[in-house]
Amino acid sequence: MIESENKQELLDKRYMRMAYIWSENSYCKRRKVGALLVKDKMIISDGYNGTPSGFENICEDEDNKTKPYVLHAEANAITKVACSNNSSKDATLYVTSSPCIECAKLIIQAGINRVVYADAYRLSDGVDLLRRAGIELVNVELNG
Ligand SMILES: [Zn+2]
Repeated sequence: MIESENKQELLDKRYMRMAYIWSENSYCKRRKVGALLVKDKMIISDGYNGTPSGFENICEDEDNKTKPYVLHAEANAITKVACSNNSSKDATLYVTSSPCIECAKLIIQAGINRVVYADAYRLSDGVDLLRRAGIELVNVELNG
């Protein structure tokens, strides 16, 4: 039992490292976030924060504020799977920052049953909502 728990923790950390690498795709300057959707040991979707398809690859306005139409990494991963033949039902979401409340709503409705996150976002209302929905939450810390 202990052995399988360690194995899951090891996998969680590996996927999280991949999510971090994926966050490097983000052209947002203020904050780069990466997300992966994993189901049956397969990556079925991915995302990073950025503007919608077809828009300029600039996240910040002249005042260095994030544009209102920038999608979060989780929202991009979930909407990407919606465009595919895959289903996010019972999938695990790996995200480098804890989800905000808007993404938490999408995560619940997408049928995702496990969320693994690294950096805790300053507001905990998203994580609180996921907990209320009965979604398994795992906080992993990557040390180097
Ligand atoms: Zn969000």
